[in-house]
Amino acid sequence: MAEVLVLVDHVDGQVKKVTLELLTAARRIGEPAAVVVGEPTDELKAKLGEYGAEKIYTAPAELDDYVVAPKAELLAKLANDKSAAAVLVSATPENKEIAGRTAVKLGSGVLTDVVDINSELVAEHSIFGGSIITHAKVTKGVPVVAVRPNAIPAEPSAGAAAVEAVEIELSDAAKAARITDRVKQEKGARPELTEAAIVVSGGRGVGEDFSVVENLADALGAAVGASRAAVDAGWYPHAFQVGQTGKTVSPNLYIALGISGAIQHRAGMQTSKTIVAVNKDPEAPILEISDFAVIGDLHKVAPQLTEEINKR
Ligand code: FAD
Repeated sequence: MAEVLVLVDHVDGQVKKVTLELLTAARRIGEPAAVVVGEPTDELKAKLGEYGAEKIYTAPAELDDYVVAPKAELLAKLANDKSAAAVLVSATPENKEIAGRTAVKLGSGVLTDVVDINSELVAEHSIFGGSIITHAKVTKGVPVVAVRPNAIPAEPSAGAAAVEAVEIELSDAAKAARITDRVKQEKGARPELTEAAIVVSGGRGVGEDFSVVENLADALGAAVGASRAAVDAGWYPHAFQVGQTGKTVSPNLYIALGISGAIQHRAGMQTSKTIVAVNKDPEAPILEISDFAVIGDLHKVAPQLTEEINKR
């Protein structure tokens, strides 16, 4: 069975959930082979094995000293050397650039923002805010596919996880842009938005002061999200925007406070397992996809809910 290369996203020795989703998808196509830049920790290797990685290719940490190009060279080299069936990466802005560059090097095609992929390498896209599903397939060379986080549920399945070090001589072009400094973003106590099991999001109904959203999120150990209206108003940073032009989330519980449920917002959260809306408008579109709804003023409902949770 041909190998399917999966570029591993990892931070501080921890694998990101999206990589486990990619390994799950890779198993449908062929033999999953994880590609790690830097020395993986034992915990990382074990996790990759638990989700079906038969091989773990490790490349020198030096590749991470440069902007995107070295990873494209690495993936293209491995795809050629191993006659890979496909290359999968997560659809982050950086990885989409890596995917494009890899496809150019392979003379193949790239599909980005994919939400599903089958054993025949037919990829599914959800467009126009999820109202239309399209299918696409790369018809030439090794397909390079960028899959959205939270689109494919990660399922464990043990793999051999045999480690093989890859030697690579980077081209001068790959070393053209060097990373001179990495500033670690202040990491709050809250979980990362796309990885969180619970997300509490606020919209225009919240108003400028997002503490009502943050307090409920903290009581639940949740991440905070925001609608574009709230982001455009400058009430919350864009990094927290959920939707078509923001992040895609798929938590177990999504609480929408003062969000109408426009199609572009739904595109980023409609696959959440349980959706709870707090809205004063009983006709708000968000209610069409909500499992539970509270019709009322969020400034009264959310603090009461927060207080009740904090008491327990
Ligand atoms: P509104 O639509 O104004 O809704 C506010 C809601 O709050 C209403 O339902 C109201 O009843 C309720 N409310 C008000 N006060 C209270 C209160 N005190 N208590 C309870 N409820 C209250 N939007 C996104 O979110 N994410 C995207 O990524 C995104 N991408 C877009 C891309 C494009 C190309 C376009 C054209 C639009 C995009 N939008 C996106 C914008 C989207 O169309 C909506 O305008 C936006 O989602 C509306 O945000 P909202 O629900 O917070 O505001």
